[in-house]
Amino acid sequence: MEKNSTKEIVNKYNFKFTKSLGQNFLIDSQVLTDIVEGAEINNNDFIIEIGPGVGTLTKELLKAAKKVMAIELDSDLVPILKEELKDYENFQLINKDALKVDFNEIIGEEQSVKLVANLPYYVTTPIIAKLLNGHYKFKSLTIMIQKEVGERIAAKPNTKEYGALSLLVQYYCDIKIIRKVSPSSFMPKPRVESIVIRLDRLDEPKVKVKNQELFFKIVRASFNMRRKTLWNALKSLGINKDLLEKALGEAEIDPKRRGETLSIDEFGRLSDCINELL
Ligand code: SAM
Repeated sequence: MEKNSTKEIVNKYNFKFTKSLGQNFLIDSQVLTDIVEGAEINNNDFIIEIGPGVGTLTKELLKAAKKVMAIELDSDLVPILKEELKDYENFQLINKDALKVDFNEIIGEEQSVKLVANLPYYVTTPIIAKLLNGHYKFKSLTIMIQKEVGERIAAKPNTKEYGALSLLVQYYCDIKIIRKVSPSSFMPKPRVESIVIRLDRLDEPKVKVKNQELFFKIVRASFNMRRKTLWNALKSLGINKDLLEKALGEAEIDPKRRGETLSIDEFGRLSDCINELL
């Protein structure tokens, strides 16, 4: 990529940044290269990009992939993207909120589907939750996110970062850290450090549970009140006390433990024991 092409495009169209849309555009060509390489894109891949901005990352994706479908909320960016990427026949654009998009409709019959995004930080967690809970055909999600969110995603039990987001992602995916990115790689500079990670969708979830909905309900309840014991946190789900006592006993989990000490396997075991007795 030409070194300053983001800045040049922004100036050329006199584009005005909207802070509330998390618009921090990449200006560092090495980061673009590392994202495309980290995503392991080949010319069979159908790429969905959320938030293309002025299209600098999109252009690199278009060179490597079969097709790129970009989803951008800001309609001011639509004419810019159309003009800047007009030479690429494999480019398509949807002017919509990524949270409201039906990904099954976009994916259709495509087989090798990968998502790549420098995500707007204000909606990182809801977007990740939508992409994973939706059971779409993504092979991987390569995303740039705030460094702290990356740490929460990769966190292990007994750390302050470990929580419902760690378990959601670790249930569905293997996590690979691609690189850190400093604020100076963006315009305008964000206040936080960033990280690029790749989430490789597992063929089967990390733990086999009989009732997935219940599993995530238990996980969320356990972290809703972090300082409470598992016993108190789970009581809030309205589970009968005798049943809860029996289930914790069968799962061999001490009711006085706190949720943040449980591994994903222990959450799975507990969820199955409760499910069995319900
Ligand atoms: N991909 C560009 C880059 O790397 O330079 C821009 C990334 S910028 C961090 C995030 C982009 O997401 C912006 O273009 C913003 O307008 C867009 N965006 C914000 N909220 C969105 C949403 N809900 N759905 C789709 N795009 C959104």
